[in-house]
Amino acid sequence: MIEDYKTGAILEAGGERLAPKVRESYRQQLLLYAAMHHNTEGVWPKRARLIPLEGEPVDIAIDPQEASALAMAALTLVDTYNAALAAGRDPRDLACPGQDTCKWCGYHGVCDAVWEAMSPEWEWSYHAVEGLVLAAQPTSRGLTNADVNVERSSVPSGTYRIQTDTPAVGAALVRAQRSRVRITNLRFVGGRLVTTPTSGVWSAQE
Ligand code: SF4
Repeated sequence: MIEDYKTGAILEAGGERLAPKVRESYRQQLLLYAAMHHNTEGVWPKRARLIPLEGEPVDIAIDPQEASALAMAALTLVDTYNAALAAGRDPRDLACPGQDTCKWCGYHGVCDAVWEAMSPEWEWSYHAVEGLVLAAQPTSRGLTNADVNVERSSVPSGTYRIQTDTPAVGAALVRAQRSRVRITNLRFVGGRLVTTPTSGVWSAQE
């Protein structure tokens, strides 16, 4: 049995008066895993399971025909992408950033495409901000407070005080004073943006 642990919700609205259903992107992901399993082991799994951190696991049936078609479509996309790169296209022009696509991606800090598309209307629980560090100062309690003039972000533009208890992040913010940075994986706590264990600081070009 293929099992996939998910940190986010595995169900989405099923439409008016319909029960919630498994997120289509997750269902397709399991079908692709099933196709990969078939490719290496020579047998199709009958079912695959999504296991959320909270709530009950959900099984989905594997239709070999649908899984094969999806795998072929994915391979075609890879070929198309590689052909575009070979023809000299800029990879940034080939990106398709969006609220759901980029939500859990680990490349926010270095991906220009996502910053060009990012909007305060994106409903992210972990935020990313880009802007000028006006000032950053360590406190006597081992924290660092940074005032950042946020211009591009998943939160509205404006000046925010960002607090971190991670020494490396605090040191990076102090070094970055009067320059533009990107800070990722922030959470709102008590109306203030704070870093999380997965937060990072990147230099942002003018
Ligand atoms: S952040 Fe960039 S690399 Fe990551 S999914 Fe979005 S567009 Fe792709």
